[in-house]
Amino acid sequence: MSFRILIVEDEADIAEPLSENLSRDGFQTGIAPTGEKARQLLTHHWDLVILDLMLPDLSGEILLNYLKQQPDYPSVLVLTARGTIQDKLSLFRQGCDDFLSKPFLYEELLERVRALLRRSQRVKSEVLQFEEFHLDPATFRLRVNQQETVLTPKEASLLKFFFSAAGRLVSRKEILENIWGLRQEPNTNFIGVHLFNLRKKLSELGKESWLQTVRSSGFVFSKPEKT
Ligand code: CA
Repeated sequence: MSFRILIVEDEADIAEPLSENLSRDGFQTGIAPTGEKARQLLTHHWDLVILDLMLPDLSGEILLNYLKQQPDYPSVLVLTARGTIQDKLSLFRQGCDDFLSKPFLYEELLERVRALLRRSQRVKSEVLQFEEFHLDPATFRLRVNQQETVLTPKEASLLKFFFSAAGRLVSRKEILENIWGLRQEPNTNFIGVHLFNLRKKLSELGKESWLQTVRSSGFVFSKPEKT
């Protein structure tokens, strides 16, 4: 399977040869000439985004910010003509993983792309496995067989806790202490909300029967009996 790289760049004489070169080197590529197009394409999975900061409709910084809010965001290599040290520091603080000043040599870009993908693959490889569940703690993707859903960070923490406590009754109090570090339940039923959402995502994978509510005592996460 080849890596998917999205090139967000309005200058066709940069974007097109870049895309051709990357395809030749074995990557799947897409081109977004505007920020709006980029947002549309970002609803699909990408392993890496090459991001030009000067786009006609919105700034690359806004797009970078948007990207980093997504649950499973790709690595970002920023292309910039502005190259002061302040610019670079501020880009790193905003979550860019690497950058390259224009004009650049394709060979250098290729090495940076490869290094970023190696790094993200290392993080991704430490997937937690419990029975038929595969949870990626970096991206919060939960996979069972070929199906996948994306959890929120809290749902992922809850599920990890259930993995570690599988087969026994856990009380709300225990969950509250372990996941939220709280001794007392606040007035709102926020545990209930997170559990409801987690159960919904388990049901997307056909696995809701793993999580049982035990009336007024708590919850049991365990392998359902075969029927
Ligand atoms: Ca541009």
